[in-house]
Amino acid sequence: MPSTFTHEFNTPVYKGKSSFNTGLFIDGKFVDGQDGETIDVINPTNGKVITKVSAGTAKDVDIAVAAAQKAFDTVWGLNCAGAVRGKLLGKLADLMEEHADELAALEALDNGKTFGWAKNSDVVASVGCIRYYSGWADKHSGKVIETDENKLAYTRNEPIGVVGQIIPWNFPLMMLSWKLGPALATGCTIVLKPSEFTPLTALRMCELIQKAGFPPGVVNIVNGLGTTVGQAIAEHPKIEKVAFTGSTLVGRKIMEAAAKTNLKKVTLELGGKSPNIIFNDADLEQAVNWAVHGIFWNHGQACCAGSRIFVQEGIYQEFLTRFTEKAKSLKIGDPFEPDAYQGPQVSQTQYDRIMGYINSGKEQGAKLHLGGERHGNEGYFIKPTIFTDTKPNMKIVQEEIFGPVGVVIKFTDEDDIIRQANDTVYGLAAAVFTQNINQAIETAHRLHAGTVWINCANQLHPQIPFGGFKQSGIGRELGEYALANYSNVKAVHVNLGHKM
Ligand code: NAD
Repeated sequence: MPSTFTHEFNTPVYKGKSSFNTGLFIDGKFVDGQDGETIDVINPTNGKVITKVSAGTAKDVDIAVAAAQKAFDTVWGLNCAGAVRGKLLGKLADLMEEHADELAALEALDNGKTFGWAKNSDVVASVGCIRYYSGWADKHSGKVIETDENKLAYTRNEPIGVVGQIIPWNFPLMMLSWKLGPALATGCTIVLKPSEFTPLTALRMCELIQKAGFPPGVVNIVNGLGTTVGQAIAEHPKIEKVAFTGSTLVGRKIMEAAAKTNLKKVTLELGGKSPNIIFNDADLEQAVNWAVHGIFWNHGQACCAGSRIFVQEGIYQEFLTRFTEKAKSLKIGDPFEPDAYQGPQVSQTQYDRIMGYINSGKEQGAKLHLGGERHGNEGYFIKPTIFTDTKPNMKIVQEEIFGPVGVVIKFTDEDDIIRQANDTVYGLAAAVFTQNINQAIETAHRLHAGTVWINCANQLHPQIPFGGFKQSGIGRELGEYALANYSNVKAVHVNLGHKM
């Protein structure tokens, strides 16, 4: 029998108890993995083990896929009206809202993000996403199409079937919601793998999914390692579609696995190296505030982080001074301290990876302008870090660091900035700061990025699509666009008199 995890939160910002099962969630029940393996869940604030959760294998993925297929064929998919699916999603959103503080506390404990950000950003966005897709469940209709023949032709959006979903650790609950919302709204059944680093909110959500009344087998959550459970999902011949969020490196493996097996449909949300462009005429105070949010939000662990900060030469020095002051003022500390802005990085691996990039910046001759070192004696804290005097080919300018490390680079004019900003294999997002509307729009249109923010950064809404150009991904999540990821379009021709 899988065990139960119980945790008493007695913190300055949240007091309460959380208790839930740590098994695999398959066919509406919590079960042990077939091999009885477990994974340690580590608290990044102090490096200690919080609990153990069941770890699945390819055999568990097989069992979960069979449960998902049965649910699709009997109680979900074409056997369940959109309005009913929408009502269940609505109930789930209500339950998440009811448990908002508990979900935020689990996120802070497991991932290290601050309780305040988890509650006001991650949980709010996750509830909003599930609620948004509850509204779509009975509205994703086909079209009647006119032709030059006497016929009734129409399309239907039919659910794809069993879908596999693999998510990362940086926004565990939000990425879960982005995946569950559109798949459930369209009528697909799901086998989802959370990140092995942050499984807790997904497990708590299983109980809310049960409570909301989703039939067994509609949502199956199989914790485990990427190389076992993730790989098994990507290769599974009965999974018709895989949606992946994570690194570009693993995204490539997912696509290869899908191609080699059953040519399952693939959507990928991958990494980024987003430019944040500040023109001479920008509102400087606002540009500084947003640039800080752009790179240091979620400790730099955001795919859309504005990690390359380009400043026009006329305001470069003043911007750098103010940006540095603001970065210095960010309070680093325990995620449950009321005024903490930045908690620890998620894991020792990420800590080491980021420190590796900081060292490479120094070795390759960039100027370490701020930070670049550990904060405190335990946990995985890294001080906000700024590099200047970089060269375009340096690793810290080209590669995704996924930590609180920004590079500040000078540019001369619009042509120069477009060339520099687009000089990357990524194309996820970009931000532009100027008070000149023509400049803003022209720059936005010339940037190779799936999202461009004008006079803001890192803004995400369930209604607005999100995804990447170039090696930042394939397909779009959120908005009406995400429904297409989970639907097959069927065209029906009804002959109204054409004789052979
Ligand atoms: P990752 O690619 O290491 O892991 C992501 C998920 O894939 C995890 O669940 C992991 O267990 C699984 N996985 C690992 N190897 C696998 C394999 N061989 N087959 C199948 N699954 C496998 O990424 P991460 O470190 O968890 O997350 C950070 C990355 O995610 C960053 O590159 C970031 O930019 C990206 N990200 C992108 C978006 C977006 O929307 N574009 C959002 C969040 C994170």
